[in-house]
Amino acid sequence: MIYFDNAATTIVDNEVLKSFNEINTRFFANPASSHKLGQETFNLENIARRNIAKIFASKEEEIIFTSGATESNNLAIKGCAFRYQNRGKHIITTKVEHPSVLNAFRQLEDFGFSVTYLDVDKDGKVSFEDLKEAIRDDTILVSIMSVNNEVGTINDIEEIAKYLKTFPKIVFHSDATQAIGKIDIDYKNVDLVSLSAHKLHGFKGSGALIKRANIDLLPIASGGGQEFSYRSGTNNFPYEICLAKTLRIAYEKQKENYEKVKKLNDRLREELNKMPGVKINSPLDASPYILNFSTVKKASVVAEGLSLKEIYVSTKSACSSKKSPTSYVLQAMGRDEFDSANAIRVSFSNENTLEEIDIFVKELSNILLKLK
Ligand code: PMP
Repeated sequence: MIYFDNAATTIVDNEVLKSFNEINTRFFANPASSHKLGQETFNLENIARRNIAKIFASKEEEIIFTSGATESNNLAIKGCAFRYQNRGKHIITTKVEHPSVLNAFRQLEDFGFSVTYLDVDKDGKVSFEDLKEAIRDDTILVSIMSVNNEVGTINDIEEIAKYLKTFPKIVFHSDATQAIGKIDIDYKNVDLVSLSAHKLHGFKGSGALIKRANIDLLPIASGGGQEFSYRSGTNNFPYEICLAKTLRIAYEKQKENYEKVKKLNDRLREELNKMPGVKINSPLDASPYILNFSTVKKASVVAEGLSLKEIYVSTKSACSSKKSPTSYVLQAMGRDEFDSANAIRVSFSNENTLEEIDIFVKELSNILLKLK
Protein backbone atom coordinates (compact mmCIF):
# COMPACT_ATOMS: atom_id res chain seq x y z
CA MET A 1 0.00 0.00 0.00
CA ILE A 2 1.23 3.48 -0.86
CA TYR A 3 -0.50 6.24 1.05
CA PHE A 4 -0.12 9.61 -0.67
CA ASP A 5 -3.18 11.30 0.84
CA ASN A 6 -1.64 12.82 3.96
CA ALA A 7 -3.23 16.24 3.44
CA ALA A 8 -6.59 14.49 3.96
CA THR A 9 -5.44 12.72 7.09
CA THR A 10 -2.44 10.85 8.48
CA ILE A 11 -1.90 7.60 10.35
CA VAL A 12 -1.66 8.07 14.14
CA ASP A 13 1.89 8.04 15.48
CA ASN A 14 2.70 4.98 17.65
CA GLU A 15 4.00 7.09 20.54
CA VAL A 16 0.80 9.16 20.50
CA LEU A 17 -1.27 5.99 20.43
CA LYS A 18 0.70 4.60 23.39
CA SER A 19 0.05 7.78 25.39
CA PHE A 20 -3.63 7.61 24.55
CA ASN A 21 -3.89 4.05 25.90
CA GLU A 22 -1.99 4.96 29.03
CA ILE A 23 -4.12 8.00 29.75
CA ASN A 24 -7.32 6.06 29.24
CA THR A 25 -6.26 3.25 31.53
CA ARG A 26 -4.37 5.18 34.25
CA PHE A 27 -5.68 8.75 34.17
CA PHE A 28 -9.29 8.30 33.16
CA ALA A 29 -10.83 10.51 35.87
CA ASN A 30 -12.61 13.75 35.10
CA PRO A 31 -10.05 16.57 35.55
CA ALA A 32 -12.82 18.59 37.24
CA SER A 33 -13.12 15.99 40.06
CA SER A 34 -11.50 17.07 43.31
CA HIS A 35 -10.09 13.64 44.30
CA LYS A 36 -6.44 12.71 43.77
CA LEU A 37 -6.98 10.92 40.47
CA GLY A 38 -9.00 13.84 39.12
CA GLN A 39 -6.27 16.24 40.19
CA GLU A 40 -3.56 14.12 38.57
CA THR A 41 -5.49 14.25 35.31
CA PHE A 42 -6.01 17.99 35.73
CA ASN A 43 -2.26 18.45 36.21
CA LEU A 44 -1.48 16.44 33.08
CA GLU A 45 -3.91 18.55 31.08
CA ASN A 46 -2.26 21.72 32.35
CA ILE A 47 1.18 20.44 31.43
CA ALA A 48 -0.13 19.69 27.92
CA ARG A 49 -1.54 23.21 27.60
CA ARG A 50 1.71 24.72 28.89
CA ASN A 51 3.76 22.68 26.42
CA ILE A 52 1.61 23.77 23.49
CA ALA A 53 1.81 27.38 24.67
CA LYS A 54 5.61 27.10 24.70
CA ILE A 55 5.66 26.00 21.04
CA PHE A 56 3.69 29.08 20.04
CA ALA A 57 5.43 31.49 22.44
CA SER A 58 2.04 32.14 23.95
CA LYS A 59 0.34 32.04 27.32
CA GLU A 60 -1.53 29.01 28.59
CA GLU A 61 -4.85 30.86 28.44
CA GLU A 62 -4.22 31.50 24.75
CA ILE A 63 -4.66 27.82 23.88
CA ILE A 64 -8.28 26.80 23.29
CA PHE A 65 -8.74 23.08 22.71
CA THR A 66 -11.29 22.28 19.99
CA SER A 67 -12.49 19.33 17.93
CA GLY A 68 -10.27 20.30 15.00
CA ALA A 69 -9.63 23.01 12.47
CA THR A 70 -13.22 23.24 11.26
CA GLU A 71 -14.35 24.22 14.73
CA SER A 72 -11.32 26.46 15.30
CA ASN A 73 -12.01 28.31 12.04
CA ASN A 74 -15.69 28.77 12.86
CA LEU A 75 -14.96 29.95 16.39
CA ALA A 76 -12.27 32.34 15.19
CA ILE A 77 -14.24 33.84 12.31
CA LYS A 78 -17.79 33.99 13.67
CA GLY A 79 -16.60 34.61 17.22
CA CYS A 80 -14.54 37.59 16.09
CA ALA A 81 -17.10 39.00 13.64
CA PHE A 82 -19.92 38.94 16.20
CA ARG A 83 -17.74 40.20 19.03
CA TYR A 84 -16.40 43.22 17.15
CA GLN A 85 -19.34 44.04 14.82
CA ASN A 86 -19.87 47.32 16.63
CA ARG A 87 -16.51 48.47 15.16
CA GLY A 88 -17.48 47.64 11.58
CA LYS A 89 -18.98 44.91 9.44
CA HIS A 90 -16.40 44.45 6.70
CA ILE A 91 -14.41 41.22 6.69
CA ILE A 92 -11.80 39.89 4.26
CA THR A 93 -10.76 36.42 3.17
CA THR A 94 -9.57 34.71 -0.02
CA LYS A 95 -11.27 32.73 -2.76
CA VAL A 96 -9.20 29.62 -2.08
CA GLU A 97 -9.80 28.96 1.61
CA HIS A 98 -10.94 25.63 3.00
CA PRO A 99 -14.77 25.29 3.06
CA SER A 100 -14.76 25.69 6.86
CA VAL A 101 -13.53 29.25 6.34
CA LEU A 102 -15.37 30.10 3.10
CA ASN A 103 -18.73 28.86 4.35
CA ALA A 104 -18.32 30.68 7.67
CA PHE A 105 -17.80 33.92 5.72
CA ARG A 106 -20.77 33.16 3.46
CA GLN A 107 -22.93 32.60 6.52
CA LEU A 108 -21.80 35.95 7.95
CA GLU A 109 -23.07 37.65 4.77
CA ASP A 110 -26.55 36.54 5.86
CA PHE A 111 -25.98 38.46 9.10
CA GLY A 112 -25.25 41.70 7.26
CA PHE A 113 -21.46 41.46 7.03
CA SER A 114 -19.84 42.66 3.85
CA VAL A 115 -17.17 40.23 2.63
CA THR A 116 -14.26 40.79 0.25
CA TYR A 117 -13.05 37.51 -1.26
CA LEU A 118 -9.51 38.22 -2.46
CA ASP A 119 -8.30 36.84 -5.78
CA VAL A 120 -5.12 34.79 -6.01
CA ASP A 121 -2.45 34.72 -8.72
CA LYS A 122 -1.65 31.79 -11.02
CA ASP A 123 0.33 30.21 -8.18
CA GLY A 124 -2.59 30.46 -5.74
CA LYS A 125 -1.00 33.24 -3.74
CA VAL A 126 -2.73 36.29 -2.30
CA SER A 127 -1.32 39.61 -3.46
CA PHE A 128 -0.20 41.89 -0.67
CA GLU A 129 -1.25 44.88 -2.80
CA ASP A 130 -4.79 43.47 -3.23
CA LEU A 131 -5.05 43.05 0.51
CA LYS A 132 -3.89 46.61 1.14
CA GLU A 133 -6.47 47.93 -1.33
CA ALA A 134 -9.28 45.87 0.20
CA ILE A 135 -8.86 47.26 3.71
CA ARG A 136 -11.52 49.80 4.68
CA ASP A 137 -12.25 51.89 7.77
CA ASP A 138 -14.85 49.35 8.85
CA THR A 139 -12.67 46.23 8.33
CA ILE A 140 -12.53 44.14 11.49
CA LEU A 141 -11.23 40.74 10.36
CA VAL A 142 -8.81 39.29 7.80
CA SER A 143 -8.53 35.52 7.38
CA ILE A 144 -5.83 34.13 5.09
CA MET A 145 -4.73 30.50 5.06
CA SER A 146 -1.07 29.68 5.66
CA VAL A 147 -0.79 26.77 3.23
CA ASN A 148 -3.45 25.84 0.70
CA ASN A 149 -4.75 22.32 1.16
CA GLU A 150 -5.20 21.53 -2.54
CA VAL A 151 -2.03 22.90 -4.10
CA GLY A 152 0.28 23.67 -1.16
CA THR A 153 0.76 27.38 -1.95
CA ILE A 154 2.35 29.21 0.99
CA ASN A 155 1.17 32.75 1.76
CA ASP A 156 3.41 35.47 3.21
CA ILE A 157 1.78 35.20 6.62
CA GLU A 158 4.60 36.88 8.57
CA GLU A 159 4.66 39.89 6.23
CA ILE A 160 0.85 40.21 6.17
CA ALA A 161 0.67 39.87 9.98
CA LYS A 162 3.28 42.57 10.47
CA TYR A 163 1.41 44.91 8.15
CA LEU A 164 -1.96 44.24 9.77
CA LYS A 165 -0.48 45.09 13.19
CA THR A 166 -0.60 48.72 12.02
CA PHE A 167 -4.42 48.45 12.04
CA PRO A 168 -5.42 48.09 15.69
CA LYS A 169 -9.06 47.45 14.77
CA ILE A 170 -8.29 44.48 12.52
CA VAL A 171 -7.99 40.94 13.85
CA PHE A 172 -5.84 38.59 11.74
CA HIS A 173 -6.70 34.89 11.56
CA SER A 174 -4.82 32.19 9.69
CA ASP A 175 -5.96 28.65 9.03
CA ALA A 176 -2.63 26.93 9.61
CA THR A 177 -3.91 23.36 9.32
CA GLN A 178 -1.53 22.37 6.50
CA ALA A 179 1.37 24.43 7.86
CA ILE A 180 1.78 23.67 11.56
CA GLY A 181 4.64 21.28 12.22
CA LYS A 182 5.55 21.30 8.53
CA ILE A 183 6.41 24.79 7.30
CA ASP A 184 8.47 27.29 9.24
CA ILE A 185 6.13 30.25 9.85
CA ASP A 186 6.37 32.57 12.84
CA TYR A 187 2.86 33.21 14.17
CA LYS A 188 3.82 35.77 16.82
CA ASN A 189 1.94 38.58 15.06
CA VAL A 190 -1.07 36.47 14.12
CA ASP A 191 -4.05 36.97 16.45
CA LEU A 192 -5.85 33.69 15.80
CA VAL A 193 -4.33 30.44 14.48
CA SER A 194 -6.28 27.26 13.70
CA LEU A 195 -4.68 23.84 13.80
CA SER A 196 -5.70 20.21 13.61
CA ALA A 197 -4.06 17.09 15.07
CA HIS A 198 -4.95 14.55 12.39
CA LYS A 199 -2.84 16.20 9.70
CA LEU A 200 0.17 15.60 11.94
CA HIS A 201 -0.18 11.95 12.96
CA GLY A 202 -2.52 12.85 15.81
CA PHE A 203 -6.20 12.08 16.37
CA LYS A 204 -9.14 13.07 14.21
CA GLY A 205 -11.53 15.30 16.14
CA SER A 206 -8.72 17.08 17.96
CA GLY A 207 -7.31 20.54 17.43
CA ALA A 208 -6.82 23.97 18.88
CA LEU A 209 -7.30 27.64 18.31
CA ILE A 210 -4.44 29.86 19.41
CA LYS A 211 -6.07 33.12 20.50
CA ARG A 212 -3.89 36.02 21.59
CA ALA A 213 -4.86 37.32 25.03
CA ASN A 214 -5.87 40.79 23.79
CA ILE A 215 -8.45 39.30 21.42
CA ASP A 216 -11.94 38.49 22.61
CA LEU A 217 -14.46 36.21 20.85
CA LEU A 218 -18.15 35.59 21.16
CA PRO A 219 -18.30 31.89 22.07
CA ILE A 220 -20.24 29.66 19.67
CA ALA A 221 -20.96 26.98 22.28
CA SER A 222 -22.26 28.46 25.53
CA GLY A 223 -22.28 26.30 28.62
CA GLY A 224 -20.20 25.45 31.66
CA GLY A 225 -17.39 27.85 30.81
CA GLN A 226 -14.64 25.38 29.92
CA GLU A 227 -11.70 26.62 27.84
CA PHE A 228 -11.82 30.08 29.42
CA SER A 229 -15.51 30.26 28.44
CA TYR A 230 -14.66 30.27 24.74
CA ARG A 231 -15.57 26.63 24.18
CA SER A 232 -17.87 25.02 26.71
CA GLY A 233 -18.29 21.27 27.04
CA THR A 234 -16.48 18.59 29.04
CA ASN A 235 -12.91 18.57 27.86
CA ASN A 236 -11.63 15.62 25.86
CA PHE A 237 -8.46 15.58 27.93
CA PRO A 238 -6.93 12.37 26.50
CA TYR A 239 -7.01 14.06 23.10
CA GLU A 240 -5.65 17.29 24.55
CA ILE A 241 -2.69 15.57 26.16
CA CYS A 242 -2.09 13.66 22.93
CA LEU A 243 -2.28 16.89 20.92
CA ALA A 244 0.61 18.26 22.96
CA LYS A 245 2.60 15.13 22.21
CA THR A 246 1.65 15.19 18.51
CA LEU A 247 2.83 18.80 18.24
CA ARG A 248 6.02 18.17 20.19
CA ILE A 249 7.01 15.29 17.90
CA ALA A 250 6.09 17.28 14.77
CA TYR A 251 8.11 20.32 15.88
CA GLU A 252 11.12 18.28 16.98
CA LYS A 253 11.23 16.56 13.59
CA GLN A 254 9.98 19.43 11.46
CA LYS A 255 13.28 20.27 9.78
CA GLU A 256 14.32 16.67 9.23
CA ASN A 257 10.86 15.75 7.88
CA TYR A 258 10.82 18.80 5.61
CA GLU A 259 14.14 17.81 4.03
CA LYS A 260 12.96 14.25 3.52
CA VAL A 261 9.62 15.23 2.00
CA LYS A 262 11.29 17.86 -0.21
CA LYS A 263 13.37 15.10 -1.80
CA LEU A 264 10.23 13.10 -2.51
CA ASN A 265 8.52 16.13 -3.99
CA ASP A 266 11.55 17.02 -6.15
CA ARG A 267 11.77 13.48 -7.53
CA LEU A 268 8.06 13.33 -8.35
CA ARG A 269 8.14 16.78 -9.95
CA GLU A 270 11.06 15.77 -12.12
CA GLU A 271 9.26 12.64 -13.30
CA LEU A 272 5.92 14.38 -13.87
CA ASN A 273 7.65 17.03 -15.96
CA LYS A 274 8.74 14.27 -18.35
CA MET A 275 5.22 12.88 -18.76
CA PRO A 276 3.28 14.09 -21.79
CA GLY A 277 -0.02 15.77 -20.97
CA VAL A 278 0.79 16.31 -17.29
CA LYS A 279 0.62 19.88 -15.96
CA ILE A 280 1.86 20.61 -12.47
CA ASN A 281 -0.42 23.02 -10.61
CA SER A 282 1.59 23.47 -7.41
CA PRO A 283 4.11 26.32 -7.63
CA LEU A 284 7.80 25.53 -7.18
CA ASP A 285 7.90 27.26 -3.81
CA ALA A 286 4.83 25.46 -2.46
CA SER A 287 4.86 23.25 0.61
CA PRO A 288 6.73 20.09 -0.40
CA TYR A 289 4.04 18.09 1.40
CA ILE A 290 1.55 18.71 -1.45
CA LEU A 291 1.98 18.21 -5.19
CA ASN A 292 -1.04 18.83 -7.39
CA PHE A 293 -1.16 18.13 -11.13
CA SER A 294 -3.69 17.79 -13.92
CA THR A 295 -3.56 15.18 -16.65
CA VAL A 296 -5.37 14.99 -19.97
CA LYS A 297 -7.37 12.08 -18.58
CA LYS A 298 -10.33 12.10 -16.21
CA ALA A 299 -8.90 12.46 -12.71
CA SER A 300 -11.48 10.19 -11.08
CA VAL A 301 -10.55 7.37 -13.49
CA VAL A 302 -6.83 7.91 -12.89
CA ALA A 303 -7.33 7.94 -9.11
CA GLU A 304 -9.45 4.80 -9.34
CA GLY A 305 -6.77 3.05 -11.40
CA LEU A 306 -4.18 3.98 -8.77
CA SER A 307 -6.50 2.85 -5.99
CA LEU A 308 -6.82 -0.58 -7.62
CA LYS A 309 -3.04 -0.81 -7.23
CA GLU A 310 -3.41 0.27 -3.59
CA ILE A 311 -1.92 3.69 -4.27
CA TYR A 312 -4.03 6.31 -2.56
CA VAL A 313 -4.25 9.92 -3.73
CA SER A 314 -6.99 12.55 -3.86
CA THR A 315 -8.74 14.30 -6.66
CA LYS A 316 -8.58 17.83 -5.16
CA SER A 317 -9.24 17.83 -1.42
CA ALA A 318 -11.10 15.17 0.53
CA CYS A 319 -13.50 17.78 1.91
CA SER A 320 -14.86 18.72 -1.49
CA SER A 321 -14.01 15.80 -3.81
CA LYS A 322 -17.41 14.16 -3.35
CA LYS A 323 -19.22 17.26 -4.58
CA SER A 324 -18.42 18.91 -7.91
CA PRO A 325 -15.25 17.56 -9.54
CA THR A 326 -14.20 21.11 -10.40
CA SER A 327 -11.73 22.70 -8.03
CA TYR A 328 -12.58 26.30 -7.11
CA VAL A 329 -8.95 26.67 -6.05
CA LEU A 330 -7.61 25.80 -9.50
CA GLN A 331 -10.30 27.95 -11.13
CA ALA A 332 -9.21 30.89 -8.97
CA MET A 333 -5.64 30.21 -10.14
CA GLY A 334 -6.85 30.65 -13.73
CA ARG A 335 -6.76 27.00 -14.83
CA ASP A 336 -9.25 26.08 -17.54
CA GLU A 337 -12.40 24.05 -16.93
CA PHE A 338 -10.85 20.69 -17.86
CA ASP A 339 -7.68 21.09 -15.81
CA SER A 340 -9.67 22.41 -12.84
CA ALA A 341 -11.91 19.34 -12.94
CA ASN A 342 -9.13 16.82 -13.48
CA ALA A 343 -6.48 17.36 -10.88
CA ILE A 344 -4.74 14.80 -8.73
CA ARG A 345 -3.38 15.75 -5.31
CA VAL A 346 -0.44 13.78 -3.99
CA SER A 347 0.35 14.57 -0.37
CA PHE A 348 3.26 13.19 1.58
CA SER A 349 4.28 12.37 5.10
CA ASN A 350 7.75 11.72 6.48
CA GLU A 351 6.95 8.00 6.27
CA ASN A 352 6.89 7.97 2.46
CA THR A 353 9.93 6.86 0.50
CA LEU A 354 11.67 7.46 -2.84
CA GLU A 355 10.89 3.85 -3.77
CA GLU A 356 7.20 4.64 -3.41
CA ILE A 357 7.62 7.60 -5.76
CA ASP A 358 9.20 5.33 -8.36
CA ILE A 359 6.35 2.81 -8.09
CA PHE A 360 3.81 5.63 -8.28
CA VAL A 361 5.42 7.05 -11.44
CA LYS A 362 5.46 3.64 -13.09
CA GLU A 363 1.83 2.90 -12.27
CA LEU A 364 0.66 6.39 -13.23
CA SER A 365 2.44 6.13 -16.60
CA ASN A 366 0.81 2.74 -17.24
CA ILE A 367 -2.64 4.07 -16.39
CA LEU A 368 -2.24 7.17 -18.57
CA LEU A 369 -1.01 5.00 -21.43
CA LYS A 370 -3.89 2.54 -21.11
CA LEU A 371 -6.41 5.35 -21.07
CA LYS A 372 -5.22 6.65 -24.44
N1 PMP B 1 -8.43 23.78 6.93
C1 PMP B 1 -7.65 23.15 6.06
C2 PMP B 1 -6.67 23.95 5.25
C3 PMP B 1 -7.70 21.75 5.94
O1 PMP B 1 -6.89 21.13 5.08
C4 PMP B 1 -8.64 21.03 6.72
C5 PMP B 1 -8.74 19.53 6.62
N2 PMP B 1 -9.18 19.09 5.38
C6 PMP B 1 -9.44 21.75 7.62
C7 PMP B 1 -9.32 23.12 7.69
C8 PMP B 1 -10.44 21.05 8.51
O2 PMP B 1 -9.78 20.35 9.51
P1 PMP B 1 -10.51 19.33 10.48
O3 PMP B 1 -10.64 18.07 9.69
O4 PMP B 1 -9.61 19.19 11.65
O5 PMP B 1 -11.83 19.92 10.84
